[in-house]
Amino acid sequence: MAIIKYLGHAAFEIVLTGLDGAEKTILIDPWINNPNSPVKLEDYKNRKIDYIFVTHDHGDHLGNAIDIAKLTGAKLVGIFEIALYAQEQGVKTVDGNIGGRLRIDDIYAVLTPAYHSSNRGAPTGVVISGKDVTVYHAGDTGLFCEMSLIGELYQPDIALLPIGGHYTMGVKEAVKAVQMIRPKIAIPMHYNTFPPIRTNPEEFKKLVESTTPIKVVILKPGETLAYP
Ligand SMILES: [Zn+2]
Repeated sequence: MAIIKYLGHAAFEIVLTGLDGAEKTILIDPWINNPNSPVKLEDYKNRKIDYIFVTHDHGDHLGNAIDIAKLTGAKLVGIFEIALYAQEQGVKTVDGNIGGRLRIDDIYAVLTPAYHSSNRGAPTGVVISGKDVTVYHAGDTGLFCEMSLIGELYQPDIALLPIGGHYTMGVKEAVKAVQMIRPKIAIPMHYNTFPPIRTNPEEFKKLVESTTPIKVVILKPGETLAYP
């Protein structure tokens, strides 16, 4: 069982059942100062957050991760160089690198490649698995062939994919990504935050659903999807 809440831009809050059967609350790329965010930093004061995944260190992804980790005591998970930076800020961290499966307490995670840029270490995506659900967050990326390998190896139930174009895949490329990853559900992200990444998610939904059996769920910021 998983509950996916969209926080705008590339930010998500995910509640997963861990391997121990207990609920884990996970944030990915929590830039909650984004203009469409339904939450504020103060909202995390009394929240239990277990892990914060950061795909790369651009401001719209590293975002408020350090502040939220300090407020909640959550462990920040990312590539070695970002984890080191967070550790220097006094945050608990788990460092990894691309392609190695991490066992983090009672969840599994794999940092995946992403075709993008980053100041600290390589940019990544992440596959996170609990007891019964696997979620792939592609990070910021262009389309790449190994996405089919990510689909084949980890069989994500849910794929969170950028569709805004300009800095990442646009609709055309993201449709191809879904066809390669073949998740049960695809959720678009990284669009309509600023003018260069303006796009129509309904077009993405129409193109995916007319060419595959995969369902596209468009979440407005603040909305949740419960899976299955
Ligand atoms: Zn971005």
